[in-house]
Order: sequence, then structure tokens, then C-alpha cells
Amino acid sequence: MAQYIYADNAATTKLDIDAFEAMKPYLLDEYGNPSQPYFFSKRPKMAIKKAREIIADCIGAEPKNIFFTSGGTESDNWAIKCFGAAPGDVHIIATSSIEHHAILNACDNHSEMHEWIHLSVDKNGLVSPNELYNVFNWENRPICTCMTFLASVMFANNEIGTIQPIKELVEAAHKRGAAFHTDAVQAVGHVPINVKELGVDLLSASAHKFNGPKGVGFLYDSGKHVYAHNDGGSQEFGMRAGTENVAGIVGMAVALQKNCQEMDKNIAHIKTVEAHFIDRMNNSGLDFVRNGSSNHLPGLVSISFKGADGEALLHRLDLMKICVSTGSACDSVNTQVSHVLKAIGLSNEYAKGTIRISFGKHNTIEEADTIADALIKILGQN
Ligand code: PLP
Repeated sequence: MAQYIYADNAATTKLDIDAFEAMKPYLLDEYGNPSQPYFFSKRPKMAIKKAREIIADCIGAEPKNIFFTSGGTESDNWAIKCFGAAPGDVHIIATSSIEHHAILNACDNHSEMHEWIHLSVDKNGLVSPNELYNVFNWENRPICTCMTFLASVMFANNEIGTIQPIKELVEAAHKRGAAFHTDAVQAVGHVPINVKELGVDLLSASAHKFNGPKGVGFLYDSGKHVYAHNDGGSQEFGMRAGTENVAGIVGMAVALQKNCQEMDKNIAHIKTVEAHFIDRMNNSGLDFVRNGSSNHLPGLVSISFKGADGEALLHRLDLMKICVSTGSACDSVNTQVSHVLKAIGLSNEYAKGTIRISFGKHNTIEEADTIADALIKILGQN
């Protein structure tokens, strides 16, 4: 058995070895700037082109609609802050109350640029397409021609794993003339996604969540829903200036392609590990609730133990060399009950005792057993 158990795959994932091998030439030998016209830059340039094609194919898109970024946070910020044809357009943005802070803070910090509507969620974290349709009701409001509407609802929640009814939400938004962005950072490479079938206009993704390298991601834009967010060179069709992270982009494409090709197998394995862990918990006699909807990210277990302290639990597990998370890893400095657990209405006596275990394709049944044993040992002592 490994020296440690890593069960925090919603925070980040292990870099795939094939992705690593594919990246190496672009870090060592093929280091030419892809924007230069000479022969030495041809291969990096071609590698970016190929990566764009592979990634587009993985999500049912056209290559021209994929824009490389530095990751999920940048893609989300781009979608929110540069939505519309140009700066100065008046926006109305509706987001769910359980979005990642990359969305929530982008909306909050730029409130002078738009009106921000919060969509509620039910106890499983689901957004209602009806509510979305109703909040975009303009009958009694003056609308100017420069006004644009955007709905942003995450594909799958990073804390509780809930997968949203994206197609129905897109339909509701489109019926009101609003564009639809989805933060699919937790979902891309883990569950099937076809942007055209879903009808989404904008989608954010991040490579390190699907066994790609850190610091690289992409934004899908079905057609000029955002404008360029930084000034400089003409990279990324003039939409995102800056010399490309060639190795990162190549690694991301290889990792995504591999995860998509092996998706059925991975999902089946992860679900077996998850089911085994839940079985152990159900037979443990511990008082707990499991958060999220029945349609959730494979392997993501948000579990709240009555009267426990999630923070202390995490540290006890850490001493046993088991890596899990409390709430969201992107917010680990904040030890308050998370906005997500508040939004689903979880009572404090459970919410404070919440940890997130996120099994990935490398986890085993034995590891699930070890985590269950550890939890039973720790919580049984209280
Ligand atoms: N959106 C969601 C749902 C996430 O879970 C995360 C990271 O955990 C992000 C956005 C930010 O992605 P990145 O770490 O690539 O900036």
C-alpha cells in the first residue's frame, strides 16, 4: 500500500504519465515561441493546433471556439467580467448561490458593471429551471438595446457533487434571451459533456482537475459571447494575449483525451469504491448525513457527522496520512460553515462536522476501507 492515501481529487488530481511524457519535448527541446515565423516555432504552433482539436472533440465543440487560459479561475472571471460585446454594456447576471468563489467574487467585485441575481438551490443543491425562467422576467422593466443577460450555473458542485439539470437550465435561459455559462471545472473529463447537445454558450474547464497539469485550462465560447480580457499580442485569435503555455496545453489535451476514452471504465471503478465506503459508513453506527443530489459527481462524498468538528477530523486524518478536505479546498483558510452547506439548509450540528472525500481513478477499495476504519476510530472515541 502507498505511504499515504490521497482522496481529495476534487482539489486536484495526479498528473497522467502520458500527459507528462507529451509535455516534456515542449519544455526541453521544442521551446520555440509559437508566434514566431521560423521553422523552430512550427512544432509548438502545430502542437497547440492539435491540442485545440483534441479538446474540442472531447466536448463536442469546434476548435475555433476553444480559448486556452491559465485555469478555471481565469475562465470563470473571463466569462463574467467580459460578457457582452464590449465594456460598458449593461448586464444582468443570474448565478446559483452555490457557485465557486471564482464566479461569486467576480460578480461581487464588479457589481458596478451589472445587476446580480442569486438563484436559490433546494436541499440537494439543485437549481430550478423554473426559477431561472422567472427571474429573467422583463415585463415590468425598461430594457435598453445594450442590455445583455447571462445565467451562470455550475455543471457540478465542488463541495457536494450535485450535477445540475444543465440542458433544462439552458433552455429556460434561452427562452428569455439570456446566454448560459457553466463552470464545468469539476465535470469535464469525469462525466460525458457535449456542449452542442446541452446548448451551453460558455463553459469553463481546468486541466489539473482531470489529470492534466496545473495552471492551464480553457474557456469554450460558442460565438462571441465574451470580448478579449487582456491587451497585448494576437494569440488565441486575438482573444487572450500572452505567449501560450505550450507544454501545459499539450498535457491538458492528452489528459482529457485519455480520461474521455476511459470514462466508462473510470466511472464504474470510482462508483464501486464510493459504494463500498458508503456501505461501511451505513454499517458504522455513526450519526451522519450525506449531502448532494443522487445525480452527483462519481466519487465525491460530502459527509456530515453530527456534533463533530470537520476541521479537527481533517487534522486527525492528516496525522494518519489520509488527505481529504473540509468543504472546498479552494477555501481551506475559511473555517466557517461554507456558503454551499448554508444554501442547502444543513443544520449547524451536522454542517460543522463536514468533510469532503473525493475518490478518483487511482483509489482502491482497500483505501476506502482504511478511510472508513479511521473515521470509525476517531469518531467512536468522541
Ligand atoms: N470552479 C470550480 C467548480 C472549482 O472547483 C475550482 C477549483 O477548485 C475552480 C473553479 C478554480 O479552478 P482553478 O484551480 O483551475 O483556478
